[in-house]
Amino acid sequence: MIETNSHRVGVSWLDNWKFCPYKMYLTDILRLTIIKTVEQLDGIAAHQLLDDMAIPCKEDLETLVSRAVLLDEPTPIRGARVFTDRMIGIIDELHISKYRIRIIDDKPHSKTGIIFPSHKLQVNGYAYVFLSMFPICQNIPTFVVLRDELTLAEMWELEFSYNKVGEILSALTQIEQIRDGALDATPTNKKPHCRGCSCNYLCEYYTRS
Ligand code: SF4
Repeated sequence: MIETNSHRVGVSWLDNWKFCPYKMYLTDILRLTIIKTVEQLDGIAAHQLLDDMAIPCKEDLETLVSRAVLLDEPTPIRGARVFTDRMIGIIDELHISKYRIRIIDDKPHSKTGIIFPSHKLQVNGYAYVFLSMFPICQNIPTFVVLRDELTLAEMWELEFSYNKVGEILSALTQIEQIRDGALDATPTNKKPHCRGCSCNYLCEYYTRS
């Protein structure tokens, strides 16, 4: 499959958009440089370690998936680059067998103890893009998983449902409209989000009260 359209929305933008559309605007569209917190630096290092530990593979993703769906035992694939004509992203880890597919996204859950709805939307977005790219997998039960990036403890898992596609595409349309200047990015009205927001020091809507 050839990647031809560079005007795509990152699947990770769904996470920022659900958390706060204005944060998505600052970080993904304006691409402002955000000073990393210690927790974020720890997470980046943990992600990098997992990537470094993965067995290098010279085969392309289509070849890997075509073979994995024939096997009883799951094939782990780290860093799978997936895309449709409107979205693109890299799945932290995929486990594929002929019985079951698991799509894993690593997040800093042990730091916060919270499973954010925005993280669920993002990992569902990966499942949607992956299954769109590989129709051969659409009849295999597919599960979305959120895993703690430091401890590798699995924090949340659910079978992917096509009922989620409406929410994903609705979010995608709004993100595209914000990107294209047809819609303003509204700030969240959830004060706890602002307090935990990594770019609140840049945000004109942030108030400490
Ligand atoms: S401080 Fe609040 S309003 Fe501003 S970007 Fe962060 S979450 Fe959004």
